[in-house]
Amino acid sequence: MKGLFLFLGLLCVSVSRNDAQERLQVFVIPHSHMDVGWVYTVQESMHAYASNVYTTVVEELSRVKDRKFIAVEQEFFRLWWDTTASQWHKKQVRQLLQEGRLEFIIGGQVMHDEAVTDIDDAILQLTEGHGFLYETFGVRPHFSWHVDPFGASATTPVLFALAGFDAHLISRIDYDLKDDMQKNKKLQFVWRGSSSLGRTQDIFTHTMDQYSYCTPSYLPFSNRSGFYWNGVAMFPDPPKDGVYPNMSLPVTKDTLEPYAQTMVKNIKQRAQWFQTNHVLWPWGCDKQFYNASVQFTNMDVLMNYINKHSEEFGVTVQYATLKDYFQAVHQSNLSWEVRGSQDFLPYSTEPFQAWTGFYASRNVLKGVARRASSLLHSAESLFVRYRIRYPDGPVQKEWALDKLKALRWAVSEVQHHDGITGTESPKVADMYMDHLTQSMMSVEELLAAMFLLPQDLAISSANTESKEPSSDLEQHIIVYNPLAWNITTYINVSVKYPMALVSDDNGLAVPAQIQPSAESVADYDLFIVVELGGLQYRKYLIQFPQSKCNKGSSCGLTHAARVVTFETRNVSKWKKTGRRLLPVLNECYKLLFDQETNLLHSITDRFEKRKVRIRQDFWEYEANGDVHTGPISDNYIFTANELAVLAYKSVAMQIIPGKIISEVRQYFYREESDKNYTYSMITRVPVGFKDRILCQRLDQSYGMGPLVVNKEAVLRTTTSLSNNRTIYTDNNGYQMLKREYKQYINNSVSRNYYPMVREAYIEDDSSRLALLSERAHGVASLGQGQMEVMLHRRLWNNQEWNLGYNLTLNDSSVVQPVLWMMLGSPAAMATLSQQGALYLQHRPVVLPIDKPQRPWIVRERWDGPTVQPVVLPPNLHLQYLSIPGWCYGPSHVQHLQNLNLGGEGKPEKDFDRVLLRITHLFEEGEDPVLAKPTTINLKEVMQGLGEVKTVQERSLTGTWDISDLQRWNWRTTENTENSSSFTHVTTDFSVTISPKQIRTFFIYFK
Ligand SMILES: [Zn+2]
Repeated sequence: MKGLFLFLGLLCVSVSRNDAQERLQVFVIPHSHMDVGWVYTVQESMHAYASNVYTTVVEELSRVKDRKFIAVEQEFFRLWWDTTASQWHKKQVRQLLQEGRLEFIIGGQVMHDEAVTDIDDAILQLTEGHGFLYETFGVRPHFSWHVDPFGASATTPVLFALAGFDAHLISRIDYDLKDDMQKNKKLQFVWRGSSSLGRTQDIFTHTMDQYSYCTPSYLPFSNRSGFYWNGVAMFPDPPKDGVYPNMSLPVTKDTLEPYAQTMVKNIKQRAQWFQTNHVLWPWGCDKQFYNASVQFTNMDVLMNYINKHSEEFGVTVQYATLKDYFQAVHQSNLSWEVRGSQDFLPYSTEPFQAWTGFYASRNVLKGVARRASSLLHSAESLFVRYRIRYPDGPVQKEWALDKLKALRWAVSEVQHHDGITGTESPKVADMYMDHLTQSMMSVEELLAAMFLLPQDLAISSANTESKEPSSDLEQHIIVYNPLAWNITTYINVSVKYPMALVSDDNGLAVPAQIQPSAESVADYDLFIVVELGGLQYRKYLIQFPQSKCNKGSSCGLTHAARVVTFETRNVSKWKKTGRRLLPVLNECYKLLFDQETNLLHSITDRFEKRKVRIRQDFWEYEANGDVHTGPISDNYIFTANELAVLAYKSVAMQIIPGKIISEVRQYFYREESDKNYTYSMITRVPVGFKDRILCQRLDQSYGMGPLVVNKEAVLRTTTSLSNNRTIYTDNNGYQMLKREYKQYINNSVSRNYYPMVREAYIEDDSSRLALLSERAHGVASLGQGQMEVMLHRRLWNNQEWNLGYNLTLNDSSVVQPVLWMMLGSPAAMATLSQQGALYLQHRPVVLPIDKPQRPWIVRERWDGPTVQPVVLPPNLHLQYLSIPGWCYGPSHVQHLQNLNLGGEGKPEKDFDRVLLRITHLFEEGEDPVLAKPTTINLKEVMQGLGEVKTVQERSLTGTWDISDLQRWNWRTTENTENSSSFTHVTTDFSVTISPKQIRTFFIYFK
């Protein structure tokens, strides 16, 4: 039998080889691009079309054997599966999957944005979708279909390779670059997205041609569009009579030939841009296939006709999945050019259409999405800790998992390319915000429940009459460090009293500082120094004595620090500057503020003894809102019609010198006579800390908004560094990319903007100035030594399309983004900034506890000895520690058997399996010590949680046992050695993690 198949196979190959010379093989891939939330909410979309897509596609595929379909985003599919699909539909889906006629592509919860998403969240949303698909169908996606994200990051191909994908597909890249690639048949290549991982995680990448993912709709014989026989989806309700607007002319005996001619002509045009005779012909577009019947019945006839006249047309057409297409290209066995770690950002569609505005659109949503992500990260690891320590504890595991799942869903959902990008309509932005904030509140409830430990519960029910001081004169907080590193830092608690006494869970006084709040007149900011081991939490007591203590400083009481106010300075009166400089010092820096301008003047790096001139202030771009007078700015697009202008006329300053932090407050007034300031900048300089990562960061928060309409606000940092307008920005917090300034004929300002997710820096030979970020922004270096961050945008324009969909970005919110500024030698910064960015993203979780039922100080160490730290070396980051709660075992064969049994004997949710992900922070060669492969023993590292029983290494999203994972090998024109530094976990649980590796494990504890 084997021999016979081989013979037939050879025969087929020889026929197609002959054929291939003249005949094109066309893969018609039916698909629907379903934005999870863009103009309409998820609920509206489900009702108007999304649900019908899956219902009718499943029915139509079941009807005719040749038909195929690819399903991309999981959110709609999951909603359909859980709420609409009948048992018959479900059975059909399983059947179609088995036949390879329905194929899940990407498999993430959404098609995530690539510019402004953090790597952790991109992985989360992929894991979320993959977990569902694998659990439900035993299916593991092999291909990506990133057709709509606005530009392409070099991190994405790495993630897809790590998830086990065989090929990647992108579409939106810069127009002139795509043009060039088309002409030179270079749309396909092998992408080595990470310079450190190189060949081990490279992936074949297909760039869609100029027609992108929608079917070309122009018909020479009709004034209606073509190939969209079901028309355009209607909102809010589908039409009762089934007649939708813009339905294409039906395929009849009159239109058949012209339809065929049009399609073949398009196929032939596109074939010229590729090296093989295979043509990928996406059939579909946004919100298509809600009436799959009318779609397929027309297309069936058309395709049959073309195939019948295949010889004269020179093409054969077939319905295909993406696998069919990639398999054919792979079998061509050509050698492909290699692309390194360059990305495809920024993205422009035309000379004046630079899609760099969305890096900064909807700052609030971008901030909340990242806060939600970091809360989830904390809650997941705490739940692991809780489950291991109290397997039968009072926090019900299903209840806890539901809360975690809701937050996983919300954080995944907002990663959509019209979610976190800020390119959605206001009501959809509200939807994302609601889902995030509700599930965050719910997870905070879970945290509170987990901290209320069994012994506390027992006492709270038995002893309700404790002699507590009045509760508002006492505040109890728990502080959790979600990082697997020991940290010393300060936290900020908002309080109502000007005096406070802080003690830790050993009853010892803790250094603290109190001062009038920068934000609210009625409140005080209390800064508390916390020392926490990795994944450790501690309890702190804050008391508010009503009288001053007689014993002076020995009683540990801190009272409100003095605010020194400086005279407001008007820009018009600036003459000579730099004569009256006021120092603010800490162990790492000397900052000088200029009393003649009230602006920062310079920072001296005390380690390197190098002084760098630095000025920081706010500038604004004036956007054009009238399409008739020039290019506009909107949700997506940033068009700098003019250079930015200074956004203020005068500056006020206050300094609060302190023992923990010195705070500098600057207020910027639009007009000299204004009573209220337009922008504010609060800089906190940590004092008295030797830890360089703390001492070397200047914590800045900015207040702005509501902006005036059609203003785009930037924070500009102007320095004496000779960077030649070169800036380094990150791809999703994973890797840094060098961006040299490019001069264009038009639109140079906008086209030199890049996304900044966690970090951007400029440098010269001696110094590097880095900005670390807790949410995404746009960033550029437009002048020597300059770095500007776009923090907020408020726009309105009269373009019909924008108005019709309410996509003008009239965002009147007040925003308070935070950046940490760090200055040092390039080498020192390289060792600190990656870790620093994670310190910022995962600041300690501070949780107030309501009413403690008994005094807890002195008598005992509150759960102290059992909360052992979990500590990794400084170059390794504990990226994720979670109990996914999936219903499948670690054996693939067993899992498929269980599924085939139709749910009988199906495993329960596994509450004992822990998913651990560790990532190496450094690039090869980045640091002489830290950028080396690092060996850890997982049993030793994890002993703070419990005793490790078994460890199994998995693919990125957990679905593959790493030893079973074999990806397609693609030949390249480059002869590179396979310098794989991959080593498996040893039997004694040791593992060596090399630069930029991301390793995922299933761990069971005893
Ligand atoms: Zn889209």
